[in-house]
Amino acid sequence: MKGHGPIDAMEYPRFSGIRTFMRLPHVTDLENVDFAVIGAPFDTGATYRVGARFGPEGIRSASVLLRPYNASLDVLIFDHLSGVDYGDFGVVPGYLPESHNKITEGMRPLLEAGVTPIVLGGDHSVTLPELRAVVEKFGPVALIQFDSHGDVWEGYFGGKDTHGTPFRRAIEEGLLDTSRSIQIGLRGPVYEFADIQQSRDLGFQVVTADEVRQLGLDRVISAIQERAGDGPCFLTFDIDFVDPTFAPATGTPEVGGFTSWESQYLVRGLQGLNFVAFDLVEVSPPYDNAGATTCLLAANLVYEFISLLALARRGS
Ligand code: MN
Ligand code: MN
Repeated sequence: MKGHGPIDAMEYPRFSGIRTFMRLPHVTDLENVDFAVIGAPFDTGATYRVGARFGPEGIRSASVLLRPYNASLDVLIFDHLSGVDYGDFGVVPGYLPESHNKITEGMRPLLEAGVTPIVLGGDHSVTLPELRAVVEKFGPVALIQFDSHGDVWEGYFGGKDTHGTPFRRAIEEGLLDTSRSIQIGLRGPVYEFADIQQSRDLGFQVVTADEVRQLGLDRVISAIQERAGDGPCFLTFDIDFVDPTFAPATGTPEVGGFTSWESQYLVRGLQGLNFVAFDLVEVSPPYDNAGATTCLLAANLVYEFISLLALARRGS
């Protein structure tokens, strides 16, 4: 093992111990750390169902089954990476600007230490303050967004900061290189035709859910790879990309989505890209089924993010 890694499950059963992501040590000293998993337990940005404040806790609990060898990608993660669970960002429930500022401030020491942040949401509004910190270090980034929604609406109920608006705000603030950014999986009923167009009008490439079906997964992966190129990339995965059959525990479910395996396959296909940060958002455990399958899938998708980092480290 390179540094920090999970507890040995042959020594301590998976149901024992304190719940951190993947049973990684809860460490806040960033010496010899390559990636850190951090919770952003905030859902004041949600416009419909709340509960994503419990997302980090739910994903951590489901993550105890993750094992260190990714057989699909043939990588033994902790030979190449040292990773920790950094805990949660401080947030102020009900107070969006204050919470967003705390998230940006909380991201900075990780980025300054050269640690790749992997944030567990929280509603999708948390990606905006994450981006603010990431862009301070890397400049405008490519956004690779898996989501059934574009999240580029002008505002809701007179408010400009919600989980439906972060990427319009990010573009207004100059945080995104839209020429390299792409949204995948958009679907569902909207308010008017302009809603379908607005992401493209803002400069995003969009592959709708219907188009993913028509193209097939491998051509979608190629499209993402070509679009994002060599520069810094931020991967944001809204769990509502997945069909509510597989991921019912989310704030704004949309039918006609993707399976667990399709989601894993798409993320695995992104090897070679230059990821500087990741997040997985919109998991709302109060709406999960008794087996917590949404949380389990979310934990496994984060595992694929970590595997991409391990492959990048092995290759370099
Ligand atoms: Mn979203
Ligand atoms: Mn969404």
